[in-house]
Amino acid sequence: MATTKRIYSFGGGKAEGNRDLKELLGGKGAGVAEMSNIGLLVPPGFTITTDVCVAFYKNGKKLPKDVLPGVEAALRKVEALTGKGFGSATDPLLVSVRSGARVSMPGMMDTVLNLGLNDATVRGLAARSSNERFAWDSYRRFCAMFGDVVLGMKPERKEDRDPFEVILERKKHALGVKHDAELPVEALRELVLEFKAEVKRRKGIDFPDDPMQQLVAAIEAVFRSWDNARAMAYRQLNGIPAEWGTAVTVQAMVFGNMGEDSGTGVAFTRNPATGADEFYGEFLVNAQGEDVVAGVRTPQKIGELEARFPAIARQLEDAREKLERHYRDMQDIEFTIERGRLYLLQTRSGKRTGPAAVRIAVEMVEAKLISKDEALLRVDPAALNHLLRPVFDDAARERAVAEGRLLATGLPAGPGAATGRVVFFAEDAEAWRARGEQVILARHETSPEDIRGMDAAQGFLTAFGGMTSHAALVARQMGKVAIVGCEALSFDYEARTMTVATPGGPRVLSEGDWLSIEGSLGEVITGSLETTPSEIVQVLVERSRDPKGALVYQQFAKLLGWADKARRLKVRANADQPDQAAISLAFGAQGIGLCRTEHMFFGEGKIGPMREMIVAESEAERRAALDKLLPLQREDFAGIFRAMGSRPVTIRTIDPPLHEFLPHGAEGVTELARVTGKSEAHIRARMEELHESNPMLGDRGCRLGISYPEITEMQARAIFEAACEVAAEGLDVQPEVMIPLVGTKKELVHQAQVVRAAASAVFAERGRKVKYTVGTMIEVPRGALCADEIAEAAEFFSFGTNDLTQTTFGISRDDVKTVLQTYLAHDIYQVDPFVTIDRGGVGELMRIAVERGRRTKPELKLGICGEHGGDPASVEFCHQLGLDYVSCSPYRLPIARLAAAQAALREAATVRRDKPPKAGPRPARRVGKLARFASRPRALAARKPARRKKGKLARTQAG
Ligand code: PEP
Ligand code: MG
Repeated sequence: MATTKRIYSFGGGKAEGNRDLKELLGGKGAGVAEMSNIGLLVPPGFTITTDVCVAFYKNGKKLPKDVLPGVEAALRKVEALTGKGFGSATDPLLVSVRSGARVSMPGMMDTVLNLGLNDATVRGLAARSSNERFAWDSYRRFCAMFGDVVLGMKPERKEDRDPFEVILERKKHALGVKHDAELPVEALRELVLEFKAEVKRRKGIDFPDDPMQQLVAAIEAVFRSWDNARAMAYRQLNGIPAEWGTAVTVQAMVFGNMGEDSGTGVAFTRNPATGADEFYGEFLVNAQGEDVVAGVRTPQKIGELEARFPAIARQLEDAREKLERHYRDMQDIEFTIERGRLYLLQTRSGKRTGPAAVRIAVEMVEAKLISKDEALLRVDPAALNHLLRPVFDDAARERAVAEGRLLATGLPAGPGAATGRVVFFAEDAEAWRARGEQVILARHETSPEDIRGMDAAQGFLTAFGGMTSHAALVARQMGKVAIVGCEALSFDYEARTMTVATPGGPRVLSEGDWLSIEGSLGEVITGSLETTPSEIVQVLVERSRDPKGALVYQQFAKLLGWADKARRLKVRANADQPDQAAISLAFGAQGIGLCRTEHMFFGEGKIGPMREMIVAESEAERRAALDKLLPLQREDFAGIFRAMGSRPVTIRTIDPPLHEFLPHGAEGVTELARVTGKSEAHIRARMEELHESNPMLGDRGCRLGISYPEITEMQARAIFEAACEVAAEGLDVQPEVMIPLVGTKKELVHQAQVVRAAASAVFAERGRKVKYTVGTMIEVPRGALCADEIAEAAEFFSFGTNDLTQTTFGISRDDVKTVLQTYLAHDIYQVDPFVTIDRGGVGELMRIAVERGRRTKPELKLGICGEHGGDPASVEFCHQLGLDYVSCSPYRLPIARLAAAQAALREAATVRRDKPPKAGPRPARRVGKLARFASRPRALAARKPARRKKGKLARTQAG
């Protein structure tokens, strides 16, 4: 540290730092240094490094003494460049003291402006500016800001008021004026005195008049603000390490409020909402930055600058071009015009919407500013989701929020916007939809029986459930807008009302009331708001729009085309129905990675025979019921094969425990008794028999197929009959039959035999053979650990990471939500392991399974079909593991395609940087983890039964 440079000066067309020193200078410091270097006019200043921040904390939150001489020396340079003197009573230099971490933490830390003012310098400022009011206005603003930020007088609790605001309000009231700008100089002078008196009264100290003392205290305060509650929370949410610290930039003040030839503004070098290549921003004449924020005056559009300040408009346009060429990215800039001179105060990479990100990336490639690889790495894969959703009109949404119509927020499970009349029952959703109504289905939670109602609804809203709940999963699979876990909601189904607990008291909504939900933000808004399907959905899914005129679609397709060339991982879809298969293809699926056959049982006319099968009293009876299901399943499979052509289709045999297919209420029991001709007592007894303490760990998956091989046999028969039928039509079908929840080789061998026997029988009957494979899901730890043995009987593995996460952590998928909130708050989990693969535990098991499986069978095909297959970080991990494909919900395919491309590009960059490693992946650490892990399953089995039996189907039924 002793030898390290701690202060970097900038200004006068040069700088000691540059854009590459973000870690030391923070984003702001690096930005102003770089702008100085490329010849843009930046007020001179200096940046104190993040290293000093670290030293400050080590030094008991005091600026290390040896930093001070450097600050003084840097200040002299600023004086020389501006020709002003710090503390001068004739021409005072005033400075701003700003925070700046290496990544932007908007508004989280503190800033002090107009520093250097006291009773003497204020006169100098008044004389030099010939504007007494301006000088005293700056002074009173400085006193308040210094008092708040440096002397700690800022209110800490919501109900407290800023003491300076209180005095200011009192003054305005006494003088009968409404706006600050109407206060005469005399009042501003009095305010300074009153503010200082308040400091004395509250803090028992005199307001510091010495500018150097002010500066040191302000630098320390900005360093302290790195650890304020807001900044800490932001760091936690965004995974920013506490060790980074913030830099402090001290910069000569320039004033946009010096008269009609001055002003201030912010601008983006391209439109951040649409990505259009147009200068986008606003400015205010004779104003400071905070006036823009305060919203007292309406700013003018940047295009109007030309008329008012033609020379400045040209300079700003030049700066825009220069910055974009230099940074090769869209920039967000701040500027000030002081008496006809343009100064740039900040530049940084601008935040943008998903559509804007795609457009900017593609257009920058076309303009030869960046390469295709860079473009692919610039777009956040998750942001592609925004391009597929229906949208609310921005202004309409903001108006609704301003009108107090925002009732509550929940988890943003299905991004996009939906508006409709609220209904509380799935049947109503269907019926209302059938008569042409637009509906939002709101329920405490959803279940498989609600599926058609969910399909009919524009979107759905639940009070219960997390991001892997039934509603959330269905939303992703169907591309529906959804908010889940919105705890402010309670339902009175009988009265057909929903009560929302809002800060202003309970609000009751009745069936039929209009409701709007914003699933990217989780916002629940009363009343209706206009929405439209996204352009991409119009082109690809609805086919209602010609791709030729659809710019957003074209750019999306172009980017994904590049992604497809860059990626190694294949992408497949989790789809259960022919129509979902077709959508998957439109979104680029190269196959189906998971067809959950049980979802088909809820289709038209299927649940009846399914229930008959379950309550059957003999194998013969069971087979009779299965015979009714066979043609129905065959038809679904044939539809999927037809849609997918020669692409592989992985069909999984039945997975959920049988009781989940049975009716819940008394009416359902009576009805089932009537239909099957069995007694209600028999049905109740059967339900009792099937009851399980923890169905997650009970008779489900392959266990069910082993208990009732005739179910697997029927499903296999349906698959192969459909395959033969479609093959006869000339398509080269590729069925892959997948057995769930396998933990031992014998389980797989048993089920594979049933499947193969069915295949042979069908092929013999039809006189035709179809190529097929049999494989397994790896979704329990034993399956992963014994992958070498299991691979002897499997032609492929597909990681079921939903269950693998559940069984590895020993946390039920359905009950995780409460634990999750606490664990995320305590930083025990950094992310939801059901969203992003836990590399340390679940990922380690996957790595073991990959290694052991391929050791036995090098050609073993490997994929993933858990929800993680559509999560960018998990996709990258799958790439690193060497899987062949990821499979995800149809609407997440674009995300998976881009994430897979990014994984390949990042890997290539690392290999280029580090030189290729000779050996395979690291093995050493794994033994210990594995050993620890292997001793756990007993503890897992000993857990007490789950309180709530939510059911497997309830989470996964989507078809
Ligand atoms: C899984 O467990 O990851 C999986 C894909 O199966 P399901 O979600 O149907 O249990
Ligand atoms: Mg599973």
